[in-house]
Amino acid sequence: MGVDNLTRIQTEKYVEILNKYNYQYFVHCYVEDCTLLVDYFEHQNTFNLSFFLYIDKYTNNSCLANVITLLENKRYEFKLIKLVRDEKDLTSIKETKLNILLVPVWTGANNIFFKENVMLNKNDIYTLNPSLEELFRNQKLNSNFFCIFDILNTGDVLPHGSIKKMGNIADTHLADLVSAELKGNNTWRLTRNLTKKCGSCIYRYLCPPISTFEIQSEDFGGCCVDI
Ligand code: SF4
Repeated sequence: MGVDNLTRIQTEKYVEILNKYNYQYFVHCYVEDCTLLVDYFEHQNTFNLSFFLYIDKYTNNSCLANVITLLENKRYEFKLIKLVRDEKDLTSIKETKLNILLVPVWTGANNIFFKENVMLNKNDIYTLNPSLEELFRNQKLNSNFFCIFDILNTGDVLPHGSIKKMGNIADTHLADLVSAELKGNNTWRLTRNLTKKCGSCIYRYLCPPISTFEIQSEDFGGCCVDI
């Protein structure tokens, strides 16, 4: 949810809902939005909160430094995530000493960057060394998506990784949505052996599960491996 769209009243309602449950909450936001959110949440902060802070090419370094100081002073746990679209984004990160997780972002126009830097090649596969548990899991379900629903602000529910709306949380019971996804298998049990290219590849259970990128680009098995 963009912070610009949150009015004070909406935020108070939102915080009230969060306060009802004793969960740990993870707030995902851009660095620029963090200070405002900390301010919002601090007034009623009775729950356990951690931040995932997204950095992109528009992020200002002094803003980032201020946000890190703020979160450290308030003893919030946080992770820094850099959204990487191209070589330039990769180069800019090399100069920093911060511990930053890189997340590639497919724009539809950076396929070459993806092929060169994100997609697997044979050497990558041989260094994967998955556990027996992961090998078994890769035969049965997709651990990127399994048991995760995305719920839009309209209440529409989508299996994570899919663009297919399954129903609305306002009038559909969660158990029915779970049952529909287990039967329909949009993403939860989308394993590599169900796709054309990967299905006949000897690495199909070694490779990491199908990603959102592959679903959105309709390029299953878009690796650099000739089979
Ligand atoms: S074809 Fe599919 S299973 Fe085979 S290496 Fe490529 S991504 Fe992995």
